[in-house]
Amino acid sequence: PIALAQPLARTSLQSVVKWGSHVVTVGGDAPVRIQSMTNTDTEDAIGTAIQVKELALAGSELVRITVNTPEAAQAVPYIREQLDRMGISVPLIGDFHYNGHRLLSEFPDCAQALSKYRINPGNVGKGDKRDRQFSQMIEAAIQWDKPIRIGVNWGSLDQELLASLMDANNQRVNPWDAKQVMYEALITSALESAQRAEEIGLAGHQITLSCKVSGVTDLIAVYRELAKRSKYSLHLGLTEAGMGTKGTVASATALGILLQEGIGDTIRVSLTPAPGEARTQEVVVASEIIQSLGLRKFVPSVTACPGCGRTTSTTFQELTKQIDDFLRDQMPVWRTQYPGVENMKVAVMGCIVNGPGESKHADIGISLPGTGEAPAAPVFIDGEKRMTLRGESIAADFQNVVENYIRE
Ligand code: SF4
Repeated sequence: PIALAQPLARTSLQSVVKWGSHVVTVGGDAPVRIQSMTNTDTEDAIGTAIQVKELALAGSELVRITVNTPEAAQAVPYIREQLDRMGISVPLIGDFHYNGHRLLSEFPDCAQALSKYRINPGNVGKGDKRDRQFSQMIEAAIQWDKPIRIGVNWGSLDQELLASLMDANNQRVNPWDAKQVMYEALITSALESAQRAEEIGLAGHQITLSCKVSGVTDLIAVYRELAKRSKYSLHLGLTEAGMGTKGTVASATALGILLQEGIGDTIRVSLTPAPGEARTQEVVVASEIIQSLGLRKFVPSVTACPGCGRTTSTTFQELTKQIDDFLRDQMPVWRTQYPGVENMKVAVMGCIVNGPGESKHADIGISLPGTGEAPAAPVFIDGEKRMTLRGESIAADFQNVVENYIRE
């Protein structure tokens, strides 16, 4: 028989990110986790808490917030308090650059209210201060029992390290390509920082690494090598992926390939929202990537044909969108009310050619009438034709059928 295409098993250490009794494991045999990040000013505690809640309800299991000023650090415990009041226990990750060592030591309530710290080794400081400031952050993580992510980014790569690797490269008989030196610098920065953190006393399993770049093929090359050399859990993300279709496709391509190879324990899709577009879109895309690889299920899947010259009306597109939106909107409640609902399959098809066949493969399917067909839409439930819908209210009627099926 032809082998089933299954993602390779992941082999990293497992870190524990927690808030109160709410625990999110990352790495090892834990499911691939979804992360996102707010784009509010953290000093605006209410606005940030509201966005964290929206991201959490959309399915983000970890939410990162920037902690860039003393005022932002002061707002963090208040944001946490607001979330707790709203019953949102999602762990918060503090994103630190430049002054993280000061903020973590001067604002212990902030250090305590966060569940994880992101440290960018390229922005910890220069020269003599570098080691001291890095150590201060690791000591805070040990003191407050928090895991960390050492998050390297090629937009803020450690320039001293890069320069020394460039010099070494120039001495080679056959110098590497400049890109290869950059890859090496990213990976070395992450691994050396992790080793240093362990030397200071942080347990290896509490360290997650990331090496983000903005090119799809670069990201794949860097993470393949990083996974080979690292025992730590890995956070995946295509940094600065961009807007809309470009950002979505680039992220899905890069992350999909790596996840299928067993690389990546947590992912973030860094989409730039279009004006007016919800921040939660990045969570939707991340969950679709994971679900489409069969790694996890989050929402019932909606199978729909693309439509063609046989499609008679816009009812088909409208119904597909309506059902898809309806299922997603209900999931925050259904997830707890109807465990397993995410495994459901719904089919919405445009004509008789593939309509009944796909509908029978789904838990519930509808085959809308195509050109030349009688104006009737047979509905299949659990593989059998159970009813036929007609008239103007097909969309509403089908939504009721889906809802009743789930309730029953
Ligand atoms: Fe076209 Fe029918 Fe196929 Fe849909 S199922 S793409 S309407 S032929």
